[in-house]
Amino acid sequence: MGINELTIEQAALGLREKKFTAVDLTRACLARIAERNREINAFITVREEEALAEAAAADARLAAGTAEALTGIPFSVKDAIITKDVRSTGAAKILDNYTPPFEATVISKIRQQGAVLLGKNNCDAFGHGASNENSMYGPVRNPHDLKKVAGGSSGGSAAAVADSQCLFAIAEDTGGSIRQPASLCGVVGLRPSYGRNSRFGIMPMASSLDTVGPLTKTVKDIAIVLKAIAGQDSKDATTVPDGVPDYEAELQKKNGGLRGVRVGIPQEYFSATSGLAADGGVLLHPEVQRLTKESVEKLKEAGAEIVNVSLPHTKYSVAVYYIIVPSEDSSNLARLDGVRYGVRATTNDLYKLYAESRANGFPEEVKRRILIGTYALSAGYYDAYYKKAQQVRTLIRRDFDAVFQKVDVLLTPTSPFPAFGIGEKANDPLAMYLADVMVAPAAVAGMPAISIPAGTTSDNLPVGLQLIGPRLSENTLLSFAYELEKIYAL
Ligand code: GLN
Repeated sequence: MGINELTIEQAALGLREKKFTAVDLTRACLARIAERNREINAFITVREEEALAEAAAADARLAAGTAEALTGIPFSVKDAIITKDVRSTGAAKILDNYTPPFEATVISKIRQQGAVLLGKNNCDAFGHGASNENSMYGPVRNPHDLKKVAGGSSGGSAAAVADSQCLFAIAEDTGGSIRQPASLCGVVGLRPSYGRNSRFGIMPMASSLDTVGPLTKTVKDIAIVLKAIAGQDSKDATTVPDGVPDYEAELQKKNGGLRGVRVGIPQEYFSATSGLAADGGVLLHPEVQRLTKESVEKLKEAGAEIVNVSLPHTKYSVAVYYIIVPSEDSSNLARLDGVRYGVRATTNDLYKLYAESRANGFPEEVKRRILIGTYALSAGYYDAYYKKAQQVRTLIRRDFDAVFQKVDVLLTPTSPFPAFGIGEKANDPLAMYLADVMVAPAAVAGMPAISIPAGTTSDNLPVGLQLIGPRLSENTLLSFAYELEKIYAL
């Protein structure tokens, strides 16, 4: 086993016990990236020299006894997150040569601890997609089967963790982009509650839904990273003042395991056609169904109380999501005009400059969102679409609030199916949107949710399960996930 395959917890111990150095660990990750990036395409930018220099500085901190939890741990960052002095394209040519002079708060927090930034992960452009085929830098391939997608939009981050090219990754989840690729690649991914982590420096997609969180190999590693990044930030007025628990220490405290924990099974997620989309549904893959049922049995054996619940408005989540997100998208993306960065049309006509730069600098899906969003926000349609969607959003959130009076956590599949073939849904935007049926509801409601690996199909493709908790319940959510992960390991 290479040292690049270690978890954060194991690597941090190895560094302290001087079994290897941060430079060794970084070299091992860089070698893995060099070996695999041509096939998997998980990185748009790789920083070899700079990463090794950061690793040497981390080794000095370890020697001086000033190391923190993430000192010397190599990680990567979704390219839709701003990194200071490191090219940040958002996977769109309109920002092809953009090297920001500032940094996302969550990334600064991690780098101040002395973690080593290996590079930037490929993703669907600006986070738009569920397969990572909407990148202008080529699709990301699933490390478990190169003919399949890695999931999206943070496919590069999930694939990099799954393939041991880094020890953890930081990505953004607006409507599933951390959890869905985590499920398809077989790693753990957390979408925190809206407001838990600072969004400052995340390329904004839909500002009322965007969140930032970690992808790792284990739940404990999620706790370690969340502790490092969570908290109020004066640069993001939507962050909450609530204190940040010591998530890692809390994991050890729950002695009773899952005994007595009330686990809600929302019926809408389990009917044959999932029943989640207002117009028809998505067929739940039989192996996803089988693995979910097996998990419910395992939970029962562990003493959890299984409660059947209903979230009646949840079936509108995808429809609501695909009105609110394009609307906010169209507004946020208006700032990208091709004047300062990236693809720029050569013309003296100002209108043509904007139109041609945007036509060539955005992929099709981004243009589709801008068109839908502009339409939904236009005079005469605003009330019928955007306002209506916001009203239904409230109903969806209330369903969750009501159900969390009865249960501690909800259990659902993360994705209706395992990884699908590259190109299979690429020409069918609606089919791609419906890939979000399981992950959009918690996002629309602002609830935290985690995807953990729950087994594999007969073709050896990973399947993830999703645990959803009440707002700001990351602490208990992580402890349930930690206990469930232990059961799967048996
Ligand atoms: N599939 C969702 C979308 O395309 C996911 C977006 C995200 O979470 N960034 O909007």
